[in-house]
Amino acid sequence: MFETLSDRLNSVFKKFSGQKTLNEENVQEGLREVRLALLEADVNFKVVKDFTDRVRERCLGQEVLKGVNPAQQVIKIVHDELVELLGGDTTSLNLSGAKPHVIMMVGLQGSGKTTSSAKLANFLRKQKLKPYLVPADVYRPAAIDQLHTLAKQLGIPAYASTTQMNPVDIAVAAYAEAREQQCDVILLDTAGRLHVDEQLMNELVNIKEKLNPAEILFVADAMTGQDAVTVAEAFNAKLGLTGAVLTKMDGDARGGAALSIKTVTGTSVKFVGMGEKISDLEVFHPDRIAGRILG
Ligand code: GDP
Repeated sequence: MFETLSDRLNSVFKKFSGQKTLNEENVQEGLREVRLALLEADVNFKVVKDFTDRVRERCLGQEVLKGVNPAQQVIKIVHDELVELLGGDTTSLNLSGAKPHVIMMVGLQGSGKTTSSAKLANFLRKQKLKPYLVPADVYRPAAIDQLHTLAKQLGIPAYASTTQMNPVDIAVAAYAEAREQQCDVILLDTAGRLHVDEQLMNELVNIKEKLNPAEILFVADAMTGQDAVTVAEAFNAKLGLTGAVLTKMDGDARGGAALSIKTVTGTSVKFVGMGEKISDLEVFHPDRIAGRILG
């Protein structure tokens, strides 16, 4: 992930290493290339503009350190600003309040909700919590079977939903069942559509009102770039997202969604999917990712 951006930024920094100081001219020239690199990585244009404005200000501002070469100065500033763009500090799951805590997984069909629900259940079990999986995607053929199969493989309890049931009824009945079984966290795999639609949103709002989830995680396919960000805005406006899971980061060489989603929607990325296997889920650490981008 981020391979292209990483290559491009490194070639910009190389040019700075031949310079004696940072000045208006070389900063302007370097930032033009940083701007292009970010736009090519499919980062939102407004995000790119604000980012380069901040970097320019800091490069030409007070904080330029004597005795440190221009390339190192620029790398440090770009690193700090990338961390901010990626969301600042690592944001963990909010699992406060009464048990079982509900984590509602929302997003478009094919984004990776079902897979991520199972991955997250597995992740939580490793934290010594008792997860409970709830298939509530009654519209996508085989989504329920898919989650039941994953639950069985993992040995994690799952609600016996069927496609004949209404998703709101599933959510309510599953909550009672999970409480009965003294589970700590419910992972609710909700339905997605190929695009945002009113009926789906109303159904999700209904489930939210009934279950009062601790987390509403937006699951987005990172490879869809800015489309993922636009869809996140729509879900956020209706539901109030508490975080995002960016899937298929293993196939996303550009990184536009990861670099734009926090600034555009205010929603922090909490996890990334790095492959199809259950273990391919990582906590999203902005500082480590920024380090990876800068190589
Ligand atoms: P849903 O419709 O949102 O429930 O999507 P699924 O969970 O069924 O995922 C759709 C496809 O994406 C499946 O083939 C998954 O194996 C695949 N997938 C999900 N997450 C990842 C990921 O992080 N990396 C890769 N490479 N594939 C993923």
